[in-house]
Amino acid sequence: MHNLIKRAAADLAASNHAIVLTGAGVSTESGVADFRGPKGIWTTNPQAEAQAYQRYERFLNDPKAYWEEMLDTVGSGSYFYRQMREVAPNPGHHAIAHLEQLGIVKCTITQNVDGIHEKAGTRNVMHYHGAVEKLRCLSCGSRFGVDEYSLEKLPPLCRCGRPLKYDVVHFQEPIPTDIMDAAEEEAMKCDLMLICGTSAVVYPFAALPAMARSRGRGASGVKIIEVNADPTPLTHQGISHYLIQGKTGEILPLVVDEVGKLLSQRDKHE
Ligand SMILES: [Zn+2]
Repeated sequence: MHNLIKRAAADLAASNHAIVLTGAGVSTESGVADFRGPKGIWTTNPQAEAQAYQRYERFLNDPKAYWEEMLDTVGSGSYFYRQMREVAPNPGHHAIAHLEQLGIVKCTITQNVDGIHEKAGTRNVMHYHGAVEKLRCLSCGSRFGVDEYSLEKLPPLCRCGRPLKYDVVHFQEPIPTDIMDAAEEEAMKCDLMLICGTSAVVYPFAALPAMARSRGRGASGVKIIEVNADPTPLTHQGISHYLIQGKTGEILPLVVDEVGKLLSQRDKHE
């Protein structure tokens, strides 16, 4: 494993436009509950899962009922979102922020709806599945901080007059086009993709690595590295070049240490 850490550090140090993709694995190490694990939110409360599947349609049909459901029911989205906003970054989040500060990582695209990357200091974060801190207008695409609204009068309204929903992308809901386009642009532009804590099975997010890989080898080629607890479809299908198997909170800080050594050696030679 140590060789792979060195290899990843060398690849990162040699890259011109590295991007990071993160998934649930990065957040569960901070104690964010998952949905389907043994103590998952839906495992312990099947009714909440049934509600979650109907949430997007509920919003479209009756925004006020959507908001009442979100705010009233313990175990529903809003309760979960409030808990999520309390969670602190782990060493994996800090390592990613550090790589951005070093000028190596240009963009972090996350499936996670928590704002932990930002708390760790990462500046350029794309929330592919939305963010718990925000509300979004489906009509004009505007986003607002959830704290800007008292949520006493429901539903909260956008400046354009249409009802706002949580920015979080629910089941059946399309990915917001601005995020989808920006993420695809990054996948086509990057020369290194570091994939952390995601089994990459949820589409269309899972298509980003394949999209990058399809650019082939040579000058436009992309290096794709996985840091995951277990092999994923990306590993099995040969979309990633290699997998560093383990916890992101343990592996990423080691990679950053090695990157630091390489950069200081480079400085000495210049
Ligand atoms: Zn609007």
